[in-house]
Amino acid sequence: MHCITLNGCDTPITVGKIVCLARNYVAHAHELGNEVPSEPVLFIKPASSLIYDGEQVEIPSYSDDCHHEVELAVLIGKKGKNVTAENAMDLIAGYGIGIDMTLRDTQAKLKEKGFPWEKAKGFDTSCPISHFVAADQISDPHDLAIKLSVNGHIRQDSTTGCMIRRIPETIAAITEGFTLEPGDIILTGTPAGVGRVVSGDTMSTMIEGVGTLEVSVK
Ligand code: ZN
Repeated sequence: MHCITLNGCDTPITVGKIVCLARNYVAHAHELGNEVPSEPVLFIKPASSLIYDGEQVEIPSYSDDCHHEVELAVLIGKKGKNVTAENAMDLIAGYGIGIDMTLRDTQAKLKEKGFPWEKAKGFDTSCPISHFVAADQISDPHDLAIKLSVNGHIRQDSTTGCMIRRIPETIAAITEGFTLEPGDIILTGTPAGVGRVVSGDTMSTMIEGVGTLEVSVK
């Protein structure tokens, strides 16, 4: 079982699925030469991809180009299907930091062939995750500084205000097809500045009001 911890909740919460949004910041879509999609591009990481603060990312042997993508993580606290944007925020139990580790070389090959991205996005250790703070402690999740540095050098420095699709619309779009259940996590996309990490690197991340998360590369 793979769990996360939430402020004000005494017992760890078992994680179900991790639903991720691709290309949700304009500057990031452009830095990879991608169009800004008219519909949300979704993919899922398995709970087995989770690691925690202080742990290590292990790059699979089939890749030589592993990238960091820091993202605001949304923890679901209530079950929802066909949720409207107006009601979507009621589903949220808390906010955390996730890093969507991505094997860019593997992903490029898969994209070229039109194959699914799981080998590039869902491998073991591909989802470092922080402690979560309760939703009522964050007054506006679309106005938070979000940063990632590697070995002390800042790489990603943005604000969640730059999201293309905001959290209520994202939840509405996800729940057209997938039931969200307590313990599910949404990764809301990454701002610009993604880049490669190699063995021995340390990634330090922060989201304003949410906290910090630091992991290294084995
Ligand atoms: Zn991502």
